[in-house]
Amino acid sequence: MGKFVYSFNEGSKEMKNLLGGKGANLAEMTKIGLPVPPGFTITTDACNTYYTKDKKIWDELLDQIMDNLSKLEKTLDKKLGDNENPLLLSVRSGAVISMPGMMDTILNLGLNDIAVEALSKKTNNERFAYDSYRRFIQMFSDVVMGIQKYKFERILDNVKESKGYKYDTELTVDDLKEIVKEFKNIYKKELRQEFPDNPKEQLILAVKAVFDSWNNPRADVYRKLNDIPHNLGTAVNIQSMVFGNMGKTSGTGVAFTRNPSTGENILFGEYLVDAQGEDVVAGIRTPEPIASLKNIMPDIYNKFENITEILENHYKDMQDIEFTIENENLYILQTRNGKRTAKAAINIAVDMVNEKLINKEEAIMRVDPKQLDQLLHPNFEEKALKTATLISKGLPASPGAASGKVYFNANDVVTANENGEKAILVRLETSPEDIEGMVSSEGILTARGGMTSHAAVVARGMGKCCVAGCSDIKVHEDKKELRVKDIVIKEGEYISLDGSTGSVYIGNIPKHEVELVGKFEEFMDWVDEIRVLKVRTNADTPKDAKTAVKFGAEGIGLCRTEHMFFEEDRIPVVRKMILSKTIDERQEALEKLLPMQREDFAQIFEAMEGREATIRLLDPPLHEFLPKKEEDIKNLADDMNISYEDIEKRIEDLEEFNPMLGHRGCRLAVTYPEIYMMQARAIMEGAIDAKNKGFDVSPEIMIPLIGDINELKYIKEFVVNVVEDVLKESKIDMKYMVGTMIEVPRAALTADEIAKEAEFFSFGTNDLTQMTYGFSRDDANKFLVEYESKELFEKDPFQVLDKNGVGKLVKMASKLGRETRKDIKLGICGEHGGEPASVEFCHDIGLNYVSCSPYRVPIARLAAAQAVLKEKSQVSMA
Ligand code: PEP
Ligand code: MG
Repeated sequence: MGKFVYSFNEGSKEMKNLLGGKGANLAEMTKIGLPVPPGFTITTDACNTYYTKDKKIWDELLDQIMDNLSKLEKTLDKKLGDNENPLLLSVRSGAVISMPGMMDTILNLGLNDIAVEALSKKTNNERFAYDSYRRFIQMFSDVVMGIQKYKFERILDNVKESKGYKYDTELTVDDLKEIVKEFKNIYKKELRQEFPDNPKEQLILAVKAVFDSWNNPRADVYRKLNDIPHNLGTAVNIQSMVFGNMGKTSGTGVAFTRNPSTGENILFGEYLVDAQGEDVVAGIRTPEPIASLKNIMPDIYNKFENITEILENHYKDMQDIEFTIENENLYILQTRNGKRTAKAAINIAVDMVNEKLINKEEAIMRVDPKQLDQLLHPNFEEKALKTATLISKGLPASPGAASGKVYFNANDVVTANENGEKAILVRLETSPEDIEGMVSSEGILTARGGMTSHAAVVARGMGKCCVAGCSDIKVHEDKKELRVKDIVIKEGEYISLDGSTGSVYIGNIPKHEVELVGKFEEFMDWVDEIRVLKVRTNADTPKDAKTAVKFGAEGIGLCRTEHMFFEEDRIPVVRKMILSKTIDERQEALEKLLPMQREDFAQIFEAMEGREATIRLLDPPLHEFLPKKEEDIKNLADDMNISYEDIEKRIEDLEEFNPMLGHRGCRLAVTYPEIYMMQARAIMEGAIDAKNKGFDVSPEIMIPLIGDINELKYIKEFVVNVVEDVLKESKIDMKYMVGTMIEVPRAALTADEIAKEAEFFSFGTNDLTQMTYGFSRDDANKFLVEYESKELFEKDPFQVLDKNGVGKLVKMASKLGRETRKDIKLGICGEHGGEPASVEFCHDIGLNYVSCSPYRVPIARLAAAQAVLKEKSQVSMA
């Protein structure tokens, strides 16, 4: 026989998995002698078993519930439904990981026409008894039986309006009796049965409802958002009621032991006199700040303050505490580790170390790396957000908050920006041509594309807010408008984007700006003491490189050189280079590009102040650089002195059916070695310029998209020749390396061979995921959403590294690479390099570094430190 029910006297905080967070903490508080109303907990195990038994309460469980109920009745000398001294219960959910407000609660259970009279006599407070009764009927009908709340609220409002009352507290006993009657009528009308007056029946129905609420849609969504497994189940806490609604000497409230927004170490919370818990939440009356309780009930306040200190010291974390005062008696109904903003999380963790409550390692584990995004990007003001109109949701491609007037092409954004306007670039999807518009915009919204689409990758690199793949928005670039259902937003009208949630709103929502203040630096210093994995950045410009260094980057793991080709003064030259018919023509264009690239690299090396930097040679298919608009084609034709038709034909020739698997990466250099030669020269000359300014530079030249050792051999030979020529010409000695990206599965499979030529590997897990799954990184979003909603995939593999497949290739290639070249440097530069779970994996398989966009550098640093601590705790557990 299993044990499915535990009295609060039997449990402890260590039994969270079985009793849920709330149940375990109620037991713990009972154990340490705090004033907790007695009760018992039905286990999470019981919830999971309930689901295997066709959602029926089976006899064994029923017996254990009834057994505990009669013990409770004995302890309190009260009886459920009694006509003299009735016991009332609260029935509340309590998952293992707290999911605030996601599941169900029923208060005042046990009332019926007899018990209400007894309660009235016993408390000498008829108003209180009927007030509790009407609350119970409404809550039970809504939560347990699914009758919509508004049907009850309408009645309450009608009574209040007809009597000219402002507050519920003005309702008289007669009003309440009438309301009870009407509430029961609604119940009967809706369900064609009487309201259940047997309290045991009420109890069992309520327990079932809590079990069922584990799978309600909002709980389901919350679990997905917070990575909470679906199979944990919820516990049910059945507790004797205490009443905050017994008049002026009663009340109820919630308090945090420290401020959950700032972390400041002062009691923070609010309460309502003469009220029950749901009144605080419902916002019908405005609660009072907790400090004012000191004036009305000083003894209670002191007692409460004392308990909050006991609890914080006991749990060694900021607590979120619910309390009720019944006739000047204080009861604690719940305590849990309080949810907090990133800023508060860091400040509290650091303060608690300084107060010697926890150690640095515990402090590091207290902050969720993903939460750091909040600190590094602006956020919308919560108040404003509540009233904002949400029109659509896309992918949260790059965090932050942005508001501005919409424009539908890059040029218009640039012009708007020059006129001092804040602009949002809205496109079907972005292409490299849009880069200037992206730079000038506040944020970017695309209707197509996934988390590794051009818009997403580039925006993250810039630290710019981006919502991508917002597929229910129809973007009419030609008409300069967007449509969502029947809403039309035209050029120049305001929208706001939340890149952390993917939400799109109408209008201009006010924001909080970034503040990297307070204890952030101190906290990150501790993080750096612990971590082993180095953290580099993906940066294409000196500005990005500087930002990344500010955020703690230890080098550049990926500089995508193609982004430099799109600048206004370069793109015509690049286009000429691509469309040249002869080598001479191409050389002429390349010679023009050489000084520009040299300057780019020199500046990047300078910005990195001697830190390591991996520069990748040209990667994208060439057609991405070519003009699409008629006017641009015409200009280019004039410039190159050839006919429009001729240019058009050459553009057509460069078109591919599947460019991402086409003529790109190292394959370009097999056809046009002179492009990589120019780049190799520019890198080395730029490095020498930086060295001459006093920086200790040793470039790492990276060849993309290698799948076969012979590709690398062929390219490396001429690249090294150029490098050596430059060094000879300048008579400077400089260390350099030539390595490759591992982003084609064949490269991973033959990494032992490839390591013969490559001095380092950088895992390009964007392409490696694309090619391992065979999912197009630009189109997969359309169907991956479906995969996630049907739970085929828990996570988008373009965001969170697929450890079992793609990860296996990375692990295997690392091992093979090291077998050939013991000291081969191994890193990752796909988007996964800034994602906490993937960073942990990279630590576990022993990579040397991860590389991510500048704004994710602190996230990766923290995730890398946590990986060390997790590993340590696993070793000590083994
Ligand atoms: C990759 O493929 O993971 C990578 C970093 O290169 P890109 O995203 O530029 O293709
Ligand atoms: Mg790639």
